[in-house]
Amino acid sequence: MENLVPHNNDNAPMSPVLFRRLLLFAMFCFSAIWLIDEWGGVIANFERWSYPACIALFAGLYFLSFTQRLTEKTLHFSAYIIVASYLILTSIWHHMGTNGMFSNAAQWLGLNYVIAYLFLEVRRAVPTTVVVYVITIVGHFWALRQYNSFDDTMSVVLKIGLAHLAYVVLLGTALKLRIDNYSHKARACALEYYIKVDPLTNLLNRRGIESAIEEKDLERVYYRHHYAILILDIDHFKRVNDELGHLMGDDVLVKVANTLLSVTCEHDIVGRWGGEEFLIVSHSTSQREVMQLAEKIRHSISTISIDDVPPITVSIGVSFSEEAPTFIQCLDIADNNLYCAKHGGRNQVVASPHFELSPIFAS
Ligand code: GH3
Ligand code: MG
Ligand code: MG
Repeated sequence: MENLVPHNNDNAPMSPVLFRRLLLFAMFCFSAIWLIDEWGGVIANFERWSYPACIALFAGLYFLSFTQRLTEKTLHFSAYIIVASYLILTSIWHHMGTNGMFSNAAQWLGLNYVIAYLFLEVRRAVPTTVVVYVITIVGHFWALRQYNSFDDTMSVVLKIGLAHLAYVVLLGTALKLRIDNYSHKARACALEYYIKVDPLTNLLNRRGIESAIEEKDLERVYYRHHYAILILDIDHFKRVNDELGHLMGDDVLVKVANTLLSVTCEHDIVGRWGGEEFLIVSHSTSQREVMQLAEKIRHSISTISIDDVPPITVSIGVSFSEEAPTFIQCLDIADNNLYCAKHGGRNQVVASPHFELSPIFAS
């Protein structure tokens, strides 16, 4: 049921493991380029200190990611700032007249936009790319203008500006599609939640139960997978409504639902079958355990105390998957047993009388 709870993130979160892998990848790339430049004897002064500085900063973030000192968002943003600062600064440095017009980094500058749109939060990616764009353009203008005419400088800067604008527009469009896709998924998830969950008790409703049963495919694994059905009906519930009012009746339903959740296991299917009837599909390992669970439920509900409400009792009909080949037939048996419990005086658990506890499971 957790998967059905609606959420409204605008962006798919990156797992810490993936983030660490990306940091290792960045360290590997920077080290490899550093080695290639050193061996080729073409390493620039700027790279001589910036390569090791970036590798050290990535390593620092890698170790910080194991501590709780920085939030995940801050870690992601810090990693981005390292890459973006390096690329912008090295490109500007290389474009300065005396350092040669050919920049190793110029062709990588587009990465600043790609990384921002792929990995940063949407709210952060948009202003970040605008700032990065402005710094890139102004920085390159300033570097080139020192040793070139205004016209030559403008010709280069305009080309950089246009190319980068194309990056920003295309990535912005891709980002919008991603947000649309994500919000459609969130809306579908919310709708599914409202369709399958009872708003009063927050348990699965009948549709939710049926869908959970379908998902578990209980019939296909019938011979390997044993389950039991418990159908529970509050005794004389109409009296609570008639004597204490509908709101009090609702309160009782909520308390019963909470009790059911507290005594069943995570893997059991627990839902409101309708009105004041609840259904549990239990995966307890033995039939004796199922009967103990049913008794525990009956007893726990009898201890619920709500203001003026007299003690609440329930009748429970039980059936086991070994009794019938299909879920519907098994449910029918549990329903008949509930009927017997009601006619036997209520406040009791009834399983099929002819059905002996199987020696295999009756441990
Ligand atoms: P029995 O022991 O035979 O089950 O008697 P009962 O009074 O519990 O059964 P009956 O079917 O006569 O009454 C069920 C009542 O449950 C009638 C209906 O108004 C009430 N009910 C169903 N859904 C809700 C609900 O959501 N809130 C409240 N307050 N009452 C509800
Ligand atoms: Mg009923
Ligand atoms: Mg009832």
